[in-house]
Amino acid sequence: AGLPITPAGDAEAPKRIPKGVVLGKDGKPCRSCTSFASWANQTKSSLKSGTGVAGGLAAGATVAAAASSSAPTDCPPDVETLGRGTWTLLHSIAAQYPKQPSPTQQSDVSGFVGSLSRLYPCWVCAEDFQVFLARSPVRAASRDEFGRWLCAAHNEVNEKLGKPQFDCNLWEQRWRTGWKD
Ligand code: FAD
Repeated sequence: AGLPITPAGDAEAPKRIPKGVVLGKDGKPCRSCTSFASWANQTKSSLKSGTGVAGGLAAGATVAAAASSSAPTDCPPDVETLGRGTWTLLHSIAAQYPKQPSPTQQSDVSGFVGSLSRLYPCWVCAEDFQVFLARSPVRAASRDEFGRWLCAAHNEVNEKLGKPQFDCNLWEQRWRTGWKD
């Protein structure tokens, strides 16, 4: 068993949970905070014992996905699927954001990102994103400014997860124009 990642002040959290599985505010395993690989690991052992966190997965999907450790497409998202979808939405908003946004558009985008940081379904991700926002408030006086701010926010998570940094000079090619030949 790995070290449990539990919400602050959660005295009810179980003492032993499988490696990589993150607990939610209710003390139960949080699927949107956990990678499918970790979830499937627990699922595999629970298939043998008949217990564990597998509960919500359809039996057929559970067996197939646990064998491959890749997320099925018709089940609730894990932390990676949720993250990819959210980044796609955010960078696409930046791609369509005006070059010269009105004060209302600037306040809309800033409010949207602030709300997202409080509502994001993975609580560990949400808390870290709120810390980032407190340190680096949304910058959205132009499309390029917002695109680069978002790129830096994404890079902060990349760094935390040990992933390569993305070259923010290329954000527009990746998310708006397509790659230059
Ligand atoms: P993703 O990181 O999802 O990126 C998708 C694509 O975006 C990449 O293929 C690349 O083409 C492009 N890209 C990569 N970096 C940048 C960049 N800097 N700027 C522009 N484009 C870029 N997961 C956790 O496990 N723990 C966390 O704490 C956590 N916090 C998150 C916080 C937020 C706000 C969000 C939206 C997601 C968070 N995630 C977290 C999910 C994580 O960031 C990834 O989405 C997930 O791990 C899947 O990664 P991926 O390698 O498929 O690519």
